Amino acid sequence: MELSKLVQSIGESPTLAVSALAARMRSEGIDVVGFGAGEPDFDTPQHIIDAASEALNNGHTKYPKPSSGLPVLKEAIKNKLKRENNLSYETNQITVTVGGKMACNLLIKTLINPGDEVIIPTPYWVSYPEFVRLAGGKPVFIQGTEDNGFCVTPEQIRAVMTDRTRVLLLNYPSNPGGHMYSPERVRAIADALVGTNITVIADEIYDRLVLDGTEFLSFAAVSDDACQRTITVNSASKTYSMTGWRIGFVAGNSDVVKGVAKLDSQGSSGAATFSQVAYAAALDGDQSCVETMRAAFVERAARMHQLLNDIPGVRCPKSAGAFYAFPNVGGTFKRLNVSGSAEFTEKLLSEANVAVVPGIAFGMDEHVRFSFATSMDNIEKGLERMRTWIEKH
Ligand code: GLU
Repeated sequence: MELSKLVQSIGESPTLAVSALAARMRSEGIDVVGFGAGEPDFDTPQHIIDAASEALNNGHTKYPKPSSGLPVLKEAIKNKLKRENNLSYETNQITVTVGGKMACNLLIKTLINPGDEVIIPTPYWVSYPEFVRLAGGKPVFIQGTEDNGFCVTPEQIRAVMTDRTRVLLLNYPSNPGGHMYSPERVRAIADALVGTNITVIADEIYDRLVLDGTEFLSFAAVSDDACQRTITVNSASKTYSMTGWRIGFVAGNSDVVKGVAKLDSQGSSGAATFSQVAYAAALDGDQSCVETMRAAFVERAARMHQLLNDIPGVRCPKSAGAFYAFPNVGGTFKRLNVSGSAEFTEKLLSEANVAVVPGIAFGMDEHVRFSFATSMDNIEKGLERMRTWIEKH
């Protein structure tokens, strides 16, 4: 049957495709070491699971009412934003969504008209450009460079602003770069936007996973001006290892979040009711589980950094946040006889049983992405395999 031009115009999510392929190979008995999707390997903490079981036993099995999110969760989100991000929002400034991914997708649909431009720093998360294209918009990429820690500068942003620019998408700690923006850098970007009508989508889903001690400054917390123009996105997935619960939110201008809620009322009817109760319990409960997971990521980041830089032709900065390493592997292409990251990734998987995501999916073809949301044993094993594989060519 013929599919719509819209569906034909986009690709499948490469991050999810790599992890699905690795899972399939494993089910066929192949010993694959997976560094694919960014999905914490920890179990969801028990007190969150208990809250969900209790919710299910107490009849939280119907549509969420209102579809924009249960009052108990909106209250917990308000408290989180105040406590952790120094942001004060009213209840009507929050809409709960089916994960952070849907939050970004719906926000773009809410904000842009066909032909509008969205500035996206590269390397970018795979889905951002597709969200923009799905809404008929035009992604405008600005290149973060290795020598600037993958960060983009206010000058780069100013250079691409036009009268069609509608949105700047910011994500730090960053997927895939593993980089952070210092408060100074954040303030400098906020300054560059003063006097424009550009809305910032601040995807802050890794805000609790800063690994190098850099202070995390929410974009909206910079100033009144930044607060007015910013819609903040966050989710349960990475902070509380709740990827399968599919729960996130948008916070900011009440008209915009209402627009997101309106779209979603015609889409999902809201996020699963018991997931909402569980997320409220996560936000209101003991936060030591977050620190335990973050501490493990700090150790893994250090080991990834050491092992990757030991491999001939590979160089990688130490990850400052999230749980990704984004090494430049371009120095291996000649000896491996590959033309870019897609071929590199295919060969690494088929010849050494190591799954990574090609950098081309994130806009940088000399790189590949490792998610180190996996055990230290897997990190040791996977990088030893990659080193041996490269050295034998
Ligand atoms: N955000 C994660 C990643 O980049 C999960 C997969 C996805 O939604 O892309 O791997």
